[in-house]
Amino acid sequence: MSDRRRELPSVSSLLDTTGVRSLLDQHSRESVVDAIRVTLAAARVDERSTRPGDDWTDDIASVLRTAAMPSLRKVLNATGVIIHTNLGRAPLADAALAAIHDVCGGFSNLEYDIDTGKRGSRYSHCVSLLARLTGAEDALVVNNCAAALVLALNALARRKEVLVSRGELVEIGGSFRIPDIMGSSGAKLVEVGTTNRTHDDDYRRAITPKTAAIVKVHRSNFTISGFTSDVSVESLVFIAREHGLAVVHDLGSGLMLDLGEYGLGGEPTARAAVAAGASLVLMSGDKLLGGPQCGIILGDKSVIGKLRTNPFARAMRVDKLTLAALEATLRLYTEPARARQEIPVLAMLTTTRERVRERTGRLAADLRARGLDAEVADTIASVGGGAFPAAMLESSAVSIGAATKTEERLRLGNTAVIGRIAGDRVLLDLRSVPERDDAELARAVMESLT
Ligand SMILES: *Cc1c(COP(=O)(O)O)cnc(C)c1O
Repeated sequence: MSDRRRELPSVSSLLDTTGVRSLLDQHSRESVVDAIRVTLAAARVDERSTRPGDDWTDDIASVLRTAAMPSLRKVLNATGVIIHTNLGRAPLADAALAAIHDVCGGFSNLEYDIDTGKRGSRYSHCVSLLARLTGAEDALVVNNCAAALVLALNALARRKEVLVSRGELVEIGGSFRIPDIMGSSGAKLVEVGTTNRTHDDDYRRAITPKTAAIVKVHRSNFTISGFTSDVSVESLVFIAREHGLAVVHDLGSGLMLDLGEYGLGGEPTARAAVAAGASLVLMSGDKLLGGPQCGIILGDKSVIGKLRTNPFARAMRVDKLTLAALEATLRLYTEPARARQEIPVLAMLTTTRERVRERTGRLAADLRARGLDAEVADTIASVGGGAFPAAMLESSAVSIGAATKTEERLRLGNTAVIGRIAGDRVLLDLRSVPERDDAELARAVMESLT
């Protein structure tokens, strides 16, 4: 046994100190003993940690605090990237949070028909709202858009061929790739055209008796420009009808309102995508739609009916939390002006730079009053995951000195604040912070930096 190890106190002697005994008021004996063991183990390998004779209470209390912190917890997204997949994509509207609280705190009519007193279907819940908002005849909600794609292709094209343009074989992040997802459905992928140009005839020539569907994948996270051409959904629908094929349009983003007047044009809305005539339109619930993670499948009753009875539908079925939050979010869209204000993603996308500047001005002034090196800087924010990849949103950030240290302190604070480093400064871009979090952000920044 080394000298250092002999110097360390025993677990039972530490349990007997006044400081550690006080921890037992708030923590079980078991967790305090665990925390003592962790602290001693760290002291054994770390020369600088507390020595015998010192008070070990703070070290042990700190281990207890860390252990009590949930693994999944709130962070404040001041990166300026609004839909940030690593940071949980869309924050939910208050109405959606309230619905989760109401529906999921007790029992619900998830699969129960209150009118008849008989068994109901979980698939019934968001259908009429989705139909009303998008013009689709029927709808099915599954766990995410990738699941929607697998389900759609399994139901419509298993052991058959599916045509897709080489310009649309995209990676959607986290190294997940559309071709791999499509392949896992049991359909055989047939690539047509080239990366930059695909024509009607590329599709026509690839059609064989084994072809079941044409897939159109929205380019949601990149643009291609220059010598390019691709085939519109309308034209694909025309070609598909000639040969009795289905058209599956993976829209990805889930835009429900036209945002052209906010400088965000060129993305099709869900309604426009449905009107273009594809057999199925697929989209995410937690991108531009601003709701919970889910995959929304829109289409005719006959096609959606096939998907609903497919075994994958059961494997990909959504939980009541998702349905509660989605229904409340969709209901906000029945009043578009309200949706723009109350759905955080839309509020963050459509707020003005002036408004963001007011907020950064306040925060910067508060920080300067505490002696911190903080200024307001004009920035460009972005939409992030799955939509408007080229959009540049005029924004404003609080710029704080001593980049590396500041970034780390903000990130490791009790409430993590995630900013971005630009040169030797940290930028806290407030366009990606829902306004309801401003006070919490100010508190978290002060606490971490002062
Ligand atoms: C984001 C995206 C997906 C995946 O959606 P998830 O809901 O994350 O599964 C699929 N296709 C496109 C075009 C996308 O943009």
